[in-house]
Formats: sequence, structure tokens, C-alpha cells
Amino acid sequence: MDFSKIRVRYAPSPTGEPHVGNIRTAIFDWLIARNSSGQFIVRVEDTDQARKVEGAIDLQKASLKWLGLDWDEGLGLEGKYGPYIQSERLTLYTDVAERLLQSGKAYKCFCNAQRLSKLREKQLDSKAAIVGYDGHCRSLKLDESDISGSFVVRFKMPDAGLSELDDLVRGHLEFDNSLSDDFIILKSDGYPTYHLASVVDDHYMDISHVLRGEEWVSSVPRHVQLYLALEWEMPLFAHLPTILAPDKSKLSKRHGATSILEYKKAGYLPEAMFNFLSLLGWSLDGDTEIISKEDLVSKFDPSRISSASAIFDIEKLNWMNGHYIRSMNSLELSQILRSYWKEFPPEIFDRTPSSNEVDEVSKLVQERIKVLSEASGLVAFVFKNEITYEPNELIQKNMDAESTTRILDRVNESVSKIETFCSRAIEVELRALADSIDVKVGTLLGTIRVATSGQKVSPPLFDSLEVLGRNRVLELLHVAKSKLA
Ligand code: GLU
Ligand code: ZN
Repeated sequence: MDFSKIRVRYAPSPTGEPHVGNIRTAIFDWLIARNSSGQFIVRVEDTDQARKVEGAIDLQKASLKWLGLDWDEGLGLEGKYGPYIQSERLTLYTDVAERLLQSGKAYKCFCNAQRLSKLREKQLDSKAAIVGYDGHCRSLKLDESDISGSFVVRFKMPDAGLSELDDLVRGHLEFDNSLSDDFIILKSDGYPTYHLASVVDDHYMDISHVLRGEEWVSSVPRHVQLYLALEWEMPLFAHLPTILAPDKSKLSKRHGATSILEYKKAGYLPEAMFNFLSLLGWSLDGDTEIISKEDLVSKFDPSRISSASAIFDIEKLNWMNGHYIRSMNSLELSQILRSYWKEFPPEIFDRTPSSNEVDEVSKLVQERIKVLSEASGLVAFVFKNEITYEPNELIQKNMDAESTTRILDRVNESVSKIETFCSRAIEVELRALADSIDVKVGTLLGTIRVATSGQKVSPPLFDSLEVLGRNRVLELLHVAKSKLA
């Protein structure tokens, strides 16, 4: 194999929504490929037909696209190593299994489920050192045609010795072969297991680096022995640290979303997500947090992947997302918000904002949101037909209905006479008004805020009034007055 050609593969199983951990692997794969003008291959590992979920491949595609992880082969792209879906490569696995059978490195096992579960029970009861297959069919000398019923093919693990691997992340690994049982490589339905399929595919697809989660470390001895038995050169392996929740338990739904697409829906930017995930188990120098994709491509060095588990800190992600939102110009944000609201229309809006309106409200929210989904709540008053609040919310401290009505009348006059209805002019006019009628500015603005937004939290008032426009403001002042009558 020519390792000067970097070929890395992301090998999802289509069993559901793409997990952030899998996508982190895909990001590392992609960075290695792009950093070295290598190839990034996406291979669908669908040998577990029972766990296959309809539509899961499309979700993988959508996730990779969202993060800008373009791929070179597989997942709809042809290539000379195809097909890239394991269920379309079955003869390849059966051929290899046959080769192992012929050379005596594998054998057929006819044990039924009942025998295997009894065996397991016995091993557990007697606290046996290994719980696993006992090699019962290893030396069956029967003529196969005499045996009816289905069989699986098992790989003969050596009884002694070590399986060794120099892992790019975890260093030298050694496993005592006597602790591994004879594992299944071909199931009774003719499908290969993950062990056989991944080894065969990584070999025939000329994969140079295998990046996968550390939950696969225990499979290393099996894979090492398969490569030896087949006399194939092994690719390099990097077992990536598990992503944990802040409480150090395995990241799961109870900690929040684990599906990458849920983060999209919650309003995280792909740039922020990419940056955040790339730092889960990798660092540039231990300090730098904000790193652009371009810098990641040029600076990613797999030797800096850590073996210590990585913590998924949602606070950090929120901070990072807010940072990315604030760093773009407001027109960029406006474009992003527009497509976000198109894909996930806020229920709170009574109408669809126009492009101009999105431009306007983007400016209002840019400094105030960490995720895009927070924007709709802040600017809902602009897109609601009716602003709802209780009449007495209009009445500020030390005021009553009568004095508040008087204020509303005076605000109405001021708003009507402002020449250019812009934030600055509105501010000057309303501050002067507060002065002239001897009302505290806070009191005056408090009433106006409730009348025009009905919200306790809203973007800065003068900017908000400008966005609403004079006519809408006058309308809302009128409604407020009638509520007090
Ligand atoms: N299909 C395996 C998974 O989804 C891939 C493991 C590997 O990358 O070898 O976990
Ligand atoms: Zn058997």
C-alpha cells in the first residue's frame, strides 16, 4: 500500500441521526485529507440490516453538507474503489471468508442460539475468565453436506501470543490473544460482521488512516489477526477519545441534543460547530479556541489528538456561537437568519418577514443572541399582528391609568412630528419630551416598550421603534390608550 497517498474514510452505519461523536470523527478525517491533498471517502456500513433506518443516509449527507465536509468518493459519488455501500459488496466478503476457510484460518460453526446462550450462562455462573465462544466447532471433521441448518463463519484466533498495534493516539497497544474468542466474520444471513467488512474495505479501498472512536479499541486484536491472516499491510490507526458530558458520563440525550442536525435546528452556525467539534480531543496549542476552518485545514496535526476523553461543554459552544454571530457583518447574519427562518419558521411570527425587515432586525439581535433560535423571541413584536399584554403593565411605578394615558397622548404627538423617523431622532425627541413633561425617562420608555413590544426583554427601544416604523408605532400607541380607557 502506498501510504504517501492519504486516504481516510468516514464509515457511518445508517442507524439513525448522525451523532456529534461520529461527526467529530468525520471532521478529523476531512482535516487530514484536506491538509494533505488526500481523499476523504464516505463508506456506508450497513451490514447490520436489522438496525438499518430508512433515510439515515440522507441525514448523514445533510450533516456533512451543513458542515462543509465535502467528500471525494462514496455517498452518491462514483470512484474506482466502489461500490461504497457494504451491502453492495457482499461477494467480496464471502470471497475473503472463503479464502480464510480454505487456508484453515476460519471455520464454519453450526452451533445454535440455544447452545450459545447456555454456554454463556455457564461461563457467567462459573465466573470464567472469558465469556465467549468455546471453539466447539473448531475441529469438526464432519462432511459439511451432512450438516443441515445454517452456519456462521468464525475466525480462528491464535491461542497464545500478543496482538500489537502502535496507535497514533494511544501509543503502543498489546492484547493477549488467549483472551479473545473465535469471533464471527460471516453471519448466517451471508452478511459479514463489522470486523470482516471494515478490514476488507479498508484494505481494498487503500485506506491509509483509520480514525474511529475508542469504543473500537477492544476490536483491535481481532483486526490485527485478520490483517496477519490475510497477509495485508495494516493502515495506521487512531482511536479517538470518547466525548463525555460535563458530569463525565457518556454524552447522551439527557444532557441535551446528541444529533448534529438538532444543533442546526437550534440555531448553531456550522462554522462554530466545526470549530467546537474540532477541539474535542484535539488542540492547536492548548489555548487557542477560535480557529477558522482554513487554519484548521492547514494546522491540523493528528499527532496532537489527545487520548484523554473530551468534554462536550455546551456553555463553551454557546459562547463560541455568539462569537461567530458577532464577528460577521449584519448583512451576512441577515442572510443566514433568512434561510434559517425559511427552514424553521418561527411559530411566534404571524407573518413572514421581508428581506428588508430581516436586514433590519438582524442589526437588532446581532449583539444579543448566542444562537439563531433566540432571535425570533426578541423581534417577535415586529412580526406579530397583535401585541399582547395586560393593561396595567403599561402603568409604571408612581403612575396611574390617567397619567399614563396623558403620556401616551404626548408620545403620540412627538412621534408624529419627528422629521426623519430614525433611532437617533426618536431618542432626542423622547428624551426632550420626558424633560418637558417632568416624567422620568425610564417611566416614559417603560410605557412605550410595553405598548410597542409587549415584551419584558426586547432589543434597544429606539432602534426597535425605527424598525417598527412610524405608522405601526402610532397604531400601537392608539391600541394602548384604548386599553386604558
Ligand atoms: N460503522 C462504524 C460506526 O458507525 C464505523 C467504525 C469505524 O470507523 O471503523 O461506528
Ligand atoms: Zn460452533
